Amino acid sequence: KLTSREFHPENTIVNVDGVKIGDGSMTMMAGPCSIESLDQIRECARIAKAGGATILRGGAFKPRTSPYAFQGLEEEGLKYIRQAADEFDMKVITEVMDEAHIAMIAEYSDILQIGARNMQNFKLLQAVGKTGKPIGLKRGISGTIDEWLNAAEYIAAQGNFNVLFIERGIRTYETATRNTLDLSAVPLIKKLSHFPIIVDPSHGVGIWDLVPSMARAGVAAGADGLIVEIHPDPINAWSDGPQSLNEKTYLRMMREVHIMEKAM
Ligand code: PEP
Ligand code: MN
Repeated sequence: KLTSREFHPENTIVNVDGVKIGDGSMTMMAGPCSIESLDQIRECARIAKAGGATILRGGAFKPRTSPYAFQGLEEEGLKYIRQAADEFDMKVITEVMDEAHIAMIAEYSDILQIGARNMQNFKLLQAVGKTGKPIGLKRGISGTIDEWLNAAEYIAAQGNFNVLFIERGIRTYETATRNTLDLSAVPLIKKLSHFPIIVDPSHGVGIWDLVPSMARAGVAAGADGLIVEIHPDPINAWSDGPQSLNEKTYLRMMREVHIMEKAM
């Protein structure tokens, strides 16, 4: 298979318009769960950049459990995140939920994120694969490693070798945390595939004060990067406030991560 380490023994380095992922350095991505306003995403970009992140995250099309919950600012939000990222010299990652939006989202975003709920939306995988853009492929909520590798294969089969695996926790019997962050996925994916793997401790645990520990654990496990949710005012965030780091906690976490990175 195209995704397998056997097929391609060397690590694949994904080049996001000059930001290299999987080259041995840690790539930091941070930003809010949802883009809420231009001011909010600019403030998030400022904080993200101050901690050393090079990629700004933020959802404009949100896969919400309830159809009555905030669904995202859509194209207006994409304009805001692009403006904020450009101002702070960052790249953008944002989720694509619908084939019909791919071309539009690709105009604003450097990386297209496939959310956990769409890991096996095979037509969507093929369609984002065709763009040739870097794809951040989240692990499905109940996705096995084999299913995840096959999902990446759908993208690679379109000739797109810019795949990033994102471990974001899986559903287990445990309900004390939002998901169970499967850190064994990191060395396992690195053994089985040549594509980089990023750890998302925010969705992995769902509880902000556990996020820094699991971020460090992700680095220790050998992740190529982290993607973390931050918010200037987490209590009032429109989505995923309970797992979002405020400025102070995020900056402290990033200092710890940078110290670990240097020691490794
Ligand atoms: C997100 O990144 O905000 C998100 C919805 O993630 P996931 O698809 O992993 O639940
Ligand atoms: Mn979220």
